[in-house]
Amino acid sequence: MLEMTKNVLQNLLGKSSTRLYPFTKRETFPSFRGTLDINVDECIFCGTCAKKCPSQCIEVDIKGRVWTCDTFACVYCSNCVEACPTQCMTMAPATKPPAGAKDLLIYKGKPKEPKEKKAKAKAE
Ligand code: SF4
Ligand code: SF4
Repeated sequence: MLEMTKNVLQNLLGKSSTRLYPFTKRETFPSFRGTLDINVDECIFCGTCAKKCPSQCIEVDIKGRVWTCDTFACVYCSNCVEACPTQCMTMAPATKPPAGAKDLLIYKGKPKEPKEKKAKAKAE
């Protein structure tokens, strides 16, 4: 009984072990992988990230030039970021805000330039 009372008093008067998230957020450390994003203008829609993803949460529509990620299935392992040949994927040391519904990251790239147009632009 005495031991229990001591514990109750300690818990009532001591510092809280939890935080009132999202009002009080814990500082993240620099290598923390909390969010995933891409710069779609640099993406060449090669599909490497989707192949390397252990959670299979990335889909790359190569022909349609659409990049999609189910961030709720992502385990933030960084495999995709390390494998991306154009280094257009990034991870930031920040936590995602709480969400009321599952959302997908969807990016649509610009249509591919025809080869002749590209060659002309290079020659000029
Ligand atoms: S690996 Fe990089 S360049 Fe290739 S589809 Fe994924 S994000 Fe785009
Ligand atoms: S961080 Fe890992 S789990 Fe998340 S999309 Fe990239 S490869 Fe997939």
